[in-house]
Amino acid sequence: MKNEVLKYLLKMEAEQLSPGTSGNISMRDSSSGLIAISPSGLEYKSLTHEDIVIIDLDGKIVEGSNRPSSEMDFHLALYRERSDCQAVVHTHSHFATTLACLGKELPAVHYMIAYAGEKVPLANYHTFGTPELAQEISKKIQNYYALLMENHGVLAIGPSLKYAYNCAASVEFVAQIYLQAMQVGTPKILSSVQMQEVMAKFKNYGQK
Ligand code: 13P
Ligand code: ZN
Repeated sequence: MKNEVLKYLLKMEAEQLSPGTSGNISMRDSSSGLIAISPSGLEYKSLTHEDIVIIDLDGKIVEGSNRPSSEMDFHLALYRERSDCQAVVHTHSHFATTLACLGKELPAVHYMIAYAGEKVPLANYHTFGTPELAQEISKKIQNYYALLMENHGVLAIGPSLKYAYNCAASVEFVAQIYLQAMQVGTPKILSSVQMQEVMAKFKNYGQK
């Protein structure tokens, strides 16, 4: 799990999905229930797998000498509330964060939003790393796989780290398309029926 979290932190850095030490990633081991989470405030490029912290569902450190991510509370809240959540990816990606700073949710302007659901709702602003932010995220996630965090960034979850990461990357892609489209005209938004069709097709997309 430590190597897997490190791999995706480096991918997030390489793909410029979260600047500096912003963002954080965790995943849960389905058999033990233990969680591997990124350390707080360390440069991703200088990390080794030993820097990743192992915690339990109460946030107690089981292994590691670093302080876990300051957003540990919302990672834990998501694992507690969503049995289908096995990984959490939080980014400050540019276009999605721009939308979050406008206090807007992301509508279905492109079908790739299906990773997240029919849209990406907005969670209201609370200071980073607070229990209030964790509560707001728990309340707004419902059955979605991603949220925009007002004046902050993006949150994505999934049944695997690969899914959660792809979901965060798709939210960024769709947010970019949405903001660009709005510069030229009024973007066309896909209907709920069109999105349900895409979400059903996503279950069988790619190789068997
Ligand atoms: P950490 O470095 O503590 O994970 O915090 C980064 C962040 O994005 C806080 O919201
Ligand atoms: Zn953040």
